Amino acid sequence: MNTVSSLQDIVDVCERSPSYVRAIAPYQPGKPISELAREIGLKEESIVKLASNENPLGASPKALAAMRAALDDVARYPDGNGFELRAALAKMYGVAAERIVLGNGSNDVLEMAAHAFLAPGASAVYSQHAFAVYPLATQATGAAGIEVPARDFGHDLDAMARAVRGDTRVVFVANPNNPTGTWLAPDAMHAFLRKLPADVLLVLDEAYYEYLDPGLRGDSLGWLEQFPNLVVSRTFSKAYGLAGLRVGFAFAHPQVAGLMDRVRQPFNVSSIAQAAAVAALADQEFVHESRALNARGMQALITGFKQLGLSWIPSYANFVSFKVPKTAEVFQRLLRQGVIVRPIAGYGMPEYLRVTVGTGAENARFLAALDAVLTKLR
Ligand code: PMP
Repeated sequence: MNTVSSLQDIVDVCERSPSYVRAIAPYQPGKPISELAREIGLKEESIVKLASNENPLGASPKALAAMRAALDDVARYPDGNGFELRAALAKMYGVAAERIVLGNGSNDVLEMAAHAFLAPGASAVYSQHAFAVYPLATQATGAAGIEVPARDFGHDLDAMARAVRGDTRVVFVANPNNPTGTWLAPDAMHAFLRKLPADVLLVLDEAYYEYLDPGLRGDSLGWLEQFPNLVVSRTFSKAYGLAGLRVGFAFAHPQVAGLMDRVRQPFNVSSIAQAAAVAALADQEFVHESRALNARGMQALITGFKQLGLSWIPSYANFVSFKVPKTAEVFQRLLRQGVIVRPIAGYGMPEYLRVTVGTGAENARFLAALDAVLTKLR
């Protein structure tokens, strides 16, 4: 037996990976605080990370308490069916538990939808500048991705409807979208659903739903009855402040949920995450506070952009993308000041940076750093 692997062996084995997997460009996450602290020799506490649309309030104290309590049972596998969490979600949203699929983050739910409905020979439709996981999840199945040009940075639903082909099995729409923050009115979404062929799944990604002003929210869950081809995904990562735990969920027709369940890992949501999510769901006061803080912070950022003479894309989520000259250099210089934002050149927006709305102090620190950087570069 040859135990010494040669360079040629590794080349050989990698070349056996399907070409559509080898073609995937990896997801680029926001820079972690610890990494920047190591690189520039700053203390972690002095770094402001506004790069991953996380909740600056942290998590609900009730969720934290539930996690601590759940630690005692960590030697046991989680409930693979997520009975309690699905029951809590069913009660809160008035949707039958059999329509609910849990995920290791909503990312997992998006991938389950892709794996359950896409394969080589099929295609998925999504928008230019839409969330990066749609092309990634599509490519991983060997299906073709059809990217539809955006209109004013947002989804062009008419063009997306026209882009659907005979082999299209899934359409992804983010509302609001990341990284543009653009939003589609409920009437437009509903009209799009009516236009979509009944055998094409619409994955409506509402990761930032809780940040929407209640007056703007559509009844996407109400549409489930009428449209068996609709999947609505949501997450505990944003307004619920549990991004590190990885819990998300989707609502779908029971048979669609059943198909997604077949490609789901048996224990995809940890016991601690399930316990935290149940408690977080019960603490709507925390979600309300998070939304209010976000609304104030968004205003502060916009006021700051105006004062700096910068343009931005009006956002309905907990982040905003703004245009700066010498974008890559501004990003690097902000890093050196201990402020992490997100470059979005990979989204086809090389002149923009995306900043997450932070606490009042974080927003002020970011704006002051941006002012200093731009003054030096001008
Ligand atoms: N959808 C959108 C539009 C997002 O921005 C994100 C997070 N970046 C996700 C889904 C996935 O988030 P999570 O897996 O943490 O739920």
